[in-house]
Amino acid sequence: MNDREHIVVMKFGGSSVADASCISRVADIVVGRHDTDTVCVVVSAMKGTTDMLLDAAVQAERGDRSYIETIATIEQRHCETVNTLHGETVSTPVLDTVTTMFQELKGILHGVELVRECTDRTADLIAGFGELLSIRILESVLLGRRCHPHVIDPRTCIVTDQRHRNARVNRPVTYERLRQCVEAADGLCLVPGFIAATVDGITTTLGRNGSDYTASLVAAAIHADELEIWTDVDGVLSADPRFVPDAFLVPELTFAEAAELSYFGAEVLHPSTMVPVVELDIPVRIRNTWNPTGGGTLITARAQSPFEIAGIASIDNVAIINVEGSGMVGIPGIAARLFTAIARAQANIIMISQASSEHTVCLCFRSDDAMQALQELEREFASEIVSGEIERPQLQTGMEIVAIIGEAMRGHPGISGRLFQALGDAQVSVHAIAQGSSERNISFIVSDTERERTLRTVHGAFFSSSEGKAS
Ligand code: ADP
Ligand code: ASP
Ligand code: MG
Repeated sequence: MNDREHIVVMKFGGSSVADASCISRVADIVVGRHDTDTVCVVVSAMKGTTDMLLDAAVQAERGDRSYIETIATIEQRHCETVNTLHGETVSTPVLDTVTTMFQELKGILHGVELVRECTDRTADLIAGFGELLSIRILESVLLGRRCHPHVIDPRTCIVTDQRHRNARVNRPVTYERLRQCVEAADGLCLVPGFIAATVDGITTTLGRNGSDYTASLVAAAIHADELEIWTDVDGVLSADPRFVPDAFLVPELTFAEAAELSYFGAEVLHPSTMVPVVELDIPVRIRNTWNPTGGGTLITARAQSPFEIAGIASIDNVAIINVEGSGMVGIPGIAARLFTAIARAQANIIMISQASSEHTVCLCFRSDDAMQALQELEREFASEIVSGEIERPQLQTGMEIVAIIGEAMRGHPGISGRLFQALGDAQVSVHAIAQGSSERNISFIVSDTERERTLRTVHGAFFSSSEGKAS
């Protein structure tokens, strides 16, 4: 690394590199910062690219040759972007690079079409092309601006297990390798987000939206002074602006609040993003690429939210399983059997609610996990179901988890009263409720047809106006 005093990691999401003008704007921001600071830039794929790559993989797997058209559309978009940035008259090295990468990609997809199989491992290989392409385009623009960026290949330094599509990072090894790569680069580094590799060099990905996590790994590895996540909104808002038009900028959040908001579905951050930076107390700022002078949201250990709650988030596509019966009451070991059965199903519980009567337990899963969990629960409690001590577990799909989050809720009576009063007044039916012992969130289940109404009702109950005045 060079002798500039401030080290910053800047991550630009898919919307920030969506087309040629966006990429130019990103280059402006990076060049401006590189004048004064040591900068590591992490970039996502151009908006929508990862979705289309994965669509092409599915099409090829089922023998549907429209994957060829899907890839042609992605290729055309990337080539047009290069041409707009560099002019169409001369063949630029980056255009050759992009074209070569598409040839490789088409070869892989042809293989998928022939074998009619796309394993998670192959899907990761295909999905990772989006970031490999966007980084080369940004590199070419920065080279044109007399910068000398060094592209780091995350497959040589971010080491994961083999859990394809959502791999777990070996952080000690990764930090060491990332540090060495950044130090060797001595200046401006570019890192494609989202992709990584197993210790054997097989490409993995860090889960959808995973570039945020790449950026926080880089920030922790090099002990950055700040991590900046540049996106298409002014920062973390009090609720998802697509459902709550009154949502406003939250200027400060604690690490724990940001982590809970992302865990409960605030897409603006990947849920793992906070883990590496919390350990080193590295501040995170969420900023808007289209409003670079805005203050954004600053996330630190000591933030003080001016509001009783910091925000509202929601997860859709949730299913609940109710397990109930007299055989649940006062019998030690029931919970252990429940969790063991669910672990066997490899299902991830995202919320649990149990009344103190112990008669009923409500378990929430992502819809994809629920059927497997249901089958394992039926198997585990088969004899109790036959004897009637436990009823056959009931599955309900089409649900939504909504959560209100905030440190200030702790020891602040009346928050849940206000919440459920507002939901009652709006006649929103609540299926289950849970509160973590941290008292940092209250989460509850509603039908997903009620999503928008619920979010707006709750937002109205806690935030009185679009200027962000807490009520
Ligand atoms: P990027 O492409 O920059 O990674 P994402 O689409 O992943 O951006 O995340 C930004 C989007 O997250 C916003 O455009 C907004 O629609 C959505 N979002 C959901 N909840 C929130 C929230 N509480 N605050 C801000 N944005 C949110
Ligand atoms: N391109 C990846 C995705 O769409 C990762 C990211 O954008 O953060 O999920
Ligand atoms: Mg994102």
